[in-house]
Amino acid sequence: MNLHEYQAKQILADYAIPIPDFGIASTKSEAEKILRSLGLQQAVVKIQVHAGGRGKAGGVKFCKTPEEVLQTVSSLIGMKMVNEQTGPEGIVAHKVIISRPIEIEKEFYLGAVIDRDKARPVLIASPEGGVEIEEVAAQHPEKILTIPIDLDGKVKSFYLLRLAKFMGWHGESAKEGMKIAAGLARAFIEKDASLLEINPLVQEPSGRIWALDAKLSIDDNALFRQPECNAFYDPTQQSKNEVAAKEHDLAYIALDGDIGCMVNGAGLAMATMDIIDYYGGHPANFLDVGGGASKEKVAAGFRIILSDPKVRAILVNIFGGIMNCATIAEGVLAAAADLGIRVPLVVRLEGTNVEEGKQLLEHSRLAITTADSLSEAAEKVVAAANHLKG
Ligand code: ADP
Ligand code: MG
Repeated sequence: MNLHEYQAKQILADYAIPIPDFGIASTKSEAEKILRSLGLQQAVVKIQVHAGGRGKAGGVKFCKTPEEVLQTVSSLIGMKMVNEQTGPEGIVAHKVIISRPIEIEKEFYLGAVIDRDKARPVLIASPEGGVEIEEVAAQHPEKILTIPIDLDGKVKSFYLLRLAKFMGWHGESAKEGMKIAAGLARAFIEKDASLLEINPLVQEPSGRIWALDAKLSIDDNALFRQPECNAFYDPTQQSKNEVAAKEHDLAYIALDGDIGCMVNGAGLAMATMDIIDYYGGHPANFLDVGGGASKEKVAAGFRIILSDPKVRAILVNIFGGIMNCATIAEGVLAAAADLGIRVPLVVRLEGTNVEEGKQLLEHSRLAITTADSLSEAAEKVVAAANHLKG
């Protein structure tokens, strides 16, 4: 789950990471109060959306007077940001953060992620901040330092010293910078984050260091033990389908192809997507209905797939182990009764109670193509989708 910048900053502040004073507003009058209580004449106003690249997209404004702040707040609230991170539909900003401006001498990057190759959490640091770190990594890999985070969230002192030297920090800046890196690492582990990033971390002419931006993603599987983060959930920042999937506890990820997939088990779902690709098709989504799904949950999943306008054909691929094939059939029929099915549907059922499941589908009046093997199902669904493309 992604958090907003202001939420991530609240958490970072608990780890003694210096954050410029800020307030959060969704109206002009809230903005006025913030300016008054922080005693600000100038401010940086930024939209709060679950995506980066706001600066380039016009969502970050430096305002030189209180009047300009208020005008900017009015114009940014409701702004729809569209870039490669938001997808073509864009994301609407309902709130802005109003921050004290910091005089920037130099911008840095500091982040923590799980390094999948090394199978451990790491800190990533670069003296080239403010720009996209992926670009720095591609063009100037020597400007990126990666150091390990221990599983208890600590970072060995010699690594922190190496980091300070790499960043070019001296004296008090080095001490402060190392404290910030240690705090970030601890926050990353304690909050079960999958990504925690400060870009940019900046140094003032005085040498003081501040976190001007913050990005935090929490591992969904850990949300049950992160009540503070869980409470930050903001459905306005997600697509309708993602919200519905979360409500029904379905593992759903939208993709840009045209074949809707309903599968049980993450491994089978990935194999299904691979085999669709093998036969020249493109999955519209990843959807794992899970092991012991109810008829309602299956229907919810099917509705999500049907409501995606890109979908030209649907493949239901179920291996009934814990899952009962009849439950799948009932769920599909319930959703089809609500919404009607406007695209070809290919079904491959196997396993527990498969005969009853197949019969339920055959006796319905739906135009269903059945398949016995995974490759047969994939071939048929790809052919159906391509046929519709004309
Ligand atoms: P994004 O990464 O979404 O573009 P940022 O929060 O990183 O948004 O802001 C973009 C740029 O705006 C930063 O790289 C920094 O140069 C500047 N900026 C952001 N906040 C402040 C601030 N409080 N004071 C001065 N400059 C700021
Ligand atoms: Mg940024």
